[in-house]
Parts: sequence; C-alpha cells; structure tokens
Amino acid sequence: KGPELFQPERPNSKGFDLAHTPTLDAIEAARGPFARHSWQAGPLLAGTAAPQDEEPVANPARPTDSPGTVAIASAADAETALGAATPWKAPAAERAAALNRAADLYEAHYGELFAIIAREAGKSLPDCVAELREAVDFLRYYAANIPDARPAGVFICISPWNFPLAIFTGQISAALATGNAVLAKPAPQTPLIAHRAVELLHEAGVPRDALQLLPGGPEVGAMLTSDPRVCGVAFTGSTATALKIRASMADNLAPGTPLIAETGGLNAMIVDSTALPEQAVEAIVESAFQSAGQRCSALRCLYVQDDIADDLLTMLKGAMDALQIGDPWHLSTDCGPVIDAEARRGIADHVARARAEGRLLKELPTTTDGTFAAPALIQIDGIAALEREVFGPILHVVRFKSADLDRVIGDINATGYGLTFGLQTRIDDRVQHVTDAVHAGNIYVNRNQIGAIVGSQPFGGEGLSGTGPKAGGPNYMARFCAPDRQTAGG
Ligand code: GLU
Repeated sequence: KGPELFQPERPNSKGFDLAHTPTLDAIEAARGPFARHSWQAGPLLAGTAAPQDEEPVANPARPTDSPGTVAIASAADAETALGAATPWKAPAAERAAALNRAADLYEAHYGELFAIIAREAGKSLPDCVAELREAVDFLRYYAANIPDARPAGVFICISPWNFPLAIFTGQISAALATGNAVLAKPAPQTPLIAHRAVELLHEAGVPRDALQLLPGGPEVGAMLTSDPRVCGVAFTGSTATALKIRASMADNLAPGTPLIAETGGLNAMIVDSTALPEQAVEAIVESAFQSAGQRCSALRCLYVQDDIADDLLTMLKGAMDALQIGDPWHLSTDCGPVIDAEARRGIADHVARARAEGRLLKELPTTTDGTFAAPALIQIDGIAALEREVFGPILHVVRFKSADLDRVIGDINATGYGLTFGLQTRIDDRVQHVTDAVHAGNIYVNRNQIGAIVGSQPFGGEGLSGTGPKAGGPNYMARFCAPDRQTAGG
C-alpha cells in the first residue's frame, strides 16, 4: 500500500507532502509513464466537430519535447456548441455528486495531470500540487454550496494558462454547479490539460451538452462572447482582454449579462523596519518568484523602509542565489520557464531598459534553452513608474521613509489596480491602519501574498483587477444564476 496521499474527509484537499520521500517516490512512479506521452486536444462538442488540422503544443522548458497536439475550434464548431448547449437540469444534489466524483477522478489521475501541467505549462512540482489541490477544492466547495436559484443559461468560461487546471476547473465547476450549460475556451497555450479535465468531468457524469470544450485563441473567444444566446461570461486573464470582452458584450448581449472578470495587478508589499527579516525575505521570494512570477497575485513592487533596506536587500539577493532555475520536471526546480517566447521577449525588454538606466540591482543567470526569464531585482522610485504588469519573475524595489508611509499607500492605490497586497510589520496599530487604507482584494500580513485557499481565502480584486465576486467564496455562485424573479402586484 502506498503512502496516504489525501484526506478526502477534510473540507480542503491536503495535497502532497513533498518533504516525505515515499510521497515523492509515489509521484515519480505515477507521472513516469507520461514523461513522453503525447496527448491530443480538440473540440469536445455535443455534436460533430468539423475536421481540423492538428497543431503541436509546446513545452516551454524544452523545445525538443512536444507534449501533444491540438485541433483549434472553428467558427462552425462554436456554432455547433452554441446550438447544442443545454443547461444541466439534474437536481442540485445530482450535480453536486457528479462534481465530487470529478474531484475524486482528478485525484486518482494525479500522475497524468502533473505530467501534462509540467510539460505544457512549465510548472514546477510544488505548483502542480497546488494546481490539483485548488482544482479539487473548487469542485468540492462549489458542490457543497449550491445556491437555491435558477441558472443563467449558457455560460462562456475563458481561462488562463497560468492556472490551466485550477482556474479552468473553478470557472466551469461554479457554472455547472448552478446548472448552466458551459462552453469552455482554455488559453491557447494549455489546451491539453483542459481537454483531459473535461474528459474526466464527462466521465464523472457531467452531460456532454452541459459542458463543451472549444480550444482556440482570441477569435474563438470573440465569437462566443458576442453571441446573443450567451447569458454570462467568466474570464480570467489580462485587464486589456477583459475590457474588450466587456465592450463586445455591451454591443451584442442583453443588458445586465454578467461578466465575472479576474484580471491583473500591480501588487505591492510594504516591509517596515520592525519586520522580521528572515520572514520577510522568505515571503518576498515566494511571492515574487514562485511560478516564475506568473501569478496575477504575485508581488511586483516591494516597498522597504530605508533604515533596513541595505540589509534586507543583501539577504534577498542571497536568497535569490539559492533559487534553482530549470526544467520543472526536476524535483529540485524552484523556478521554471515563462510560458512562451513572446512572454520572454516582453520581460527581457523590460530588464534591458532597467539595465540601460542603471536600475538593475540583480539578475540571475539562466542556462537552459527553453523560454526562461531570469529572476531579477529592479530599483524604481515608486510604483507609478510601472506602466503595466510585468508577468514574470521580476521584482521592483522602492525605498521609503517612515514619515512617507501614507504617501506610499496613496501611490499604491493610485495605480487603479487592487488585487493582492502584503505587509510585514510587528506594529499592531500599523497593521490596522495600512490594511484599512489599502485598496486590494486580498491582503496578507506577515506571510507571502500568493496561493489563496478556496473557502477560507476567497480570491479576487477591485478596480482594474476585476469585477468580483471572489472565486472560492460564498458570493461567487450567485453571479452564475439568473436574477431573482420579481412578482408584480400585491
Ligand atoms: N489565486 C491565485 C493565487 O492566489 C492567483 C490566481 C491567478 O494568478 O490568476 O496565487
């Protein structure tokens, strides 16, 4: 009998203890058969898909590896899917049972799912574990909390490559739990994990006309979000894309059609001179560099009080030197590749500008030939210098004076984003003052600022960072339901 990997009776999945050697051996054995496997993704419709050419899917860490192929959904496929989409009429208890079965199937297939996520999305093993946990948590949390309301109808779910299993599953499971028909369009970079997840959801009993998959790029998304049969859209991705979707919905869909958007952030952390330095450095490294900085929650701008800045930055640079950058398939890898060549280029340009301006404080070497971006520290004068989110392992550092704390908070709020925020201090009054004043959806004190836990830390931002309601929280599913019917008269 293998090690005890999960405790399904707990409300949240326990995941895997990666410090436990027998667990690591079990993971190696489970994903081993998939080290060279090739998966095929394509439209999964409640009708016949039009024949399509297959395109190779890339492994961002290894140009010589292709984890599989994808057939992109055509306009005809989108039409087929919209025509066949049928809200899931089964009673809530039956829907919940199917979603819970899907959670069990995800867990049972963890080796294969880890292999796809590592090879297609370039995610390290700890990230793969976090993906699966969060996906399973979403399935079980939404299954356990179905509101007593009518479904909206047909929901479009457009998900990102940075959480290709967790956010993909979170959106569709909320929409399915509430009885909608779902058309899911995963990010173009990560169709394989989405395809496998939908197969498992179907196997668990989700009807094929209630859940259809349309792999493709922005064209497919634009087709779906401009069709008047659509009753709601859930989107996670860039702020710019969310604004385009909103414009298209405003032009084509019924007024009041919900858009649930979770977008980018310019997330800050403030470290004052009373902070515990080791704790702060650990939180900074995790928040800025885990997942190669490719989380919308990631720390982008560190404000450190100038009295401790020299010492803290020395420690931080030392901690960065200990990061292992490389193929996420290796157990020792801390920081894998960024998703593709375009992402790497954007990051490299940003770092090159900082270097030219003499603001590059540190950059780690990278040695591999995939799309790797080296973790780097860049000095800036204030968060206003950042025009946009740099979606990679790049941390900006600002020194501030204690007397300027309120101005710093004002600058952070003035970005218009409001996703995550971190504070490191040992002054209780300051915790109260700062957390009251900062506009952010998720605020973390004396810890890292990534990895929100379904159920206990509902996740989502305000302003340019999203519309709410927060994913994995008590208000999320209501947004997937039709508004209450008002009865006129006495
Ligand atoms: N929920 C994730 C976290 O807390 C971030 C989601 C995202 O990057 O879109 O780290």
